[in-house]
Amino acid sequence: MNHEDLLTVVHQNLCACALDLNLNKNIEALLKLPRRELHVSIPVMMDDGRIKTFQGFRVQYNSARGPTKGGIRFHPAEIVNTIRGLAAIMTWKCALHDLPLGGAKGGVICNPKEMSKKELEKLSRAYIRAVADFIGPGRDIPAPDVYTNEQVMAWMMDEYSIITGRASFGVVTGKPIALGGSEGRHDATARGGWMAICEAAAQTGMELAGATVAIQGYGNVGYNAALCGHELYGSKVVAVSDSKGAVYQPEGLDPRAVMAHKTTAGTVAGFAGAAGITNEELLELDVDILIPAALENVITLDNADRIQARIIAEFANGPTTKDADAILGPKGIHIIPDFLCNGGGVIVSYFEMVQNFNMDHWPEEEVYRRLDAKMTAAYRQVFEATKKYDVGMRQAAYSVAVERVVTAMMDRGWI
Ligand code: NAD
Repeated sequence: MNHEDLLTVVHQNLCACALDLNLNKNIEALLKLPRRELHVSIPVMMDDGRIKTFQGFRVQYNSARGPTKGGIRFHPAEIVNTIRGLAAIMTWKCALHDLPLGGAKGGVICNPKEMSKKELEKLSRAYIRAVADFIGPGRDIPAPDVYTNEQVMAWMMDEYSIITGRASFGVVTGKPIALGGSEGRHDATARGGWMAICEAAAQTGMELAGATVAIQGYGNVGYNAALCGHELYGSKVVAVSDSKGAVYQPEGLDPRAVMAHKTTAGTVAGFAGAAGITNEELLELDVDILIPAALENVITLDNADRIQARIIAEFANGPTTKDADAILGPKGIHIIPDFLCNGGGVIVSYFEMVQNFNMDHWPEEEVYRRLDAKMTAAYRQVFEATKKYDVGMRQAAYSVAVERVVTAMMDRGWI
């Protein structure tokens, strides 16, 4: 993983947008720092009887618009500045999609791939015990992110309920359906991203049926992105990858068959009938749509001039550095920026919170209908802002989102 500092990238984008909005320097400085963060050491007894101490974080970036919201990552190469940057992006994302929420993010430095299920459960429960006073419904609500999933959320909700002595379903989102999870949450990020791609395709005159797509990452977001593109829009998924390699098939891959292979082989690499390529080569393929759906800072100064896609749909958070942006824009590549493109996850997480508060359960069609309305509205507001401020999609998205956060801070009397 390239660990160019995500917080620095966020600051650069904020500065560019701050000029658009004529923000004064005091406001800009306030927006560059998290309001609160907690660092914890988490001792866990491993299966062999050793006690291993993990480092964890929870960063609450800005709560002006409501309780903070954001995922928890389990990753061996986690650093706190990545978590801070991701918490900032969550702040802009919730504001851009007009959710009554602020932004947060959490992480634990660990390698889930080398841990047993029992060890993972102990770590998940111990993390929640360590941050229990810091989070909670109405305060800060975590969700899944890289290498965490609905099982991890179920353990965390259960542990928090034990601590508080009541069924606290609303403490996390992305839970299994049986525990207050929402219909449509499992593929909300990918489905929402494709709703944004639909708008971009209409704008750029691209026909989605038969359009070629390359996807980096084949986890929750990447796999569902492949499925949605293939099954809902008739696009041709020609390349996919994961941390162990990438495969390319110009005739188009069957996403379900690739997942079946990954389930047994542990990677998409080696899928029968497809050529093996590297993750770097995947990003540079001549395709209509490139979907980074893995980690941050993968499109950089080093490869931006070799990117050939017509649309880059940022399903991952922070995949493009500021330097790369400056190269992609003049090439005429249409970028759907991360916190616009991947907002579907937090939108349906918010729907999950609303259902939990009301002890309600909406049908899948209702969830997707509301998701489409939110995604389409946000896309169009950003597009309008490109014209109003005469800037690209990313600066426009920052401008809309940051203006909303600043308005809330002013209304509260913080500034
Ligand atoms: P995941 O853990 O389910 O999947 C991550 C995938 O990335 C895996 O297939 C992994 O093998 C792959 N990967 C890791 N390192 C890689 C590398 N160096 N090269 C290529 N592939 C690599 O995580 P996810 O939930 O799918 O999240 C993916 C991205 O989407 C992250 O940036 C995350 O922040 C963002 N995101 C996720 C959600 C959500 O709802 N899960 C919502 C918004 C944004």
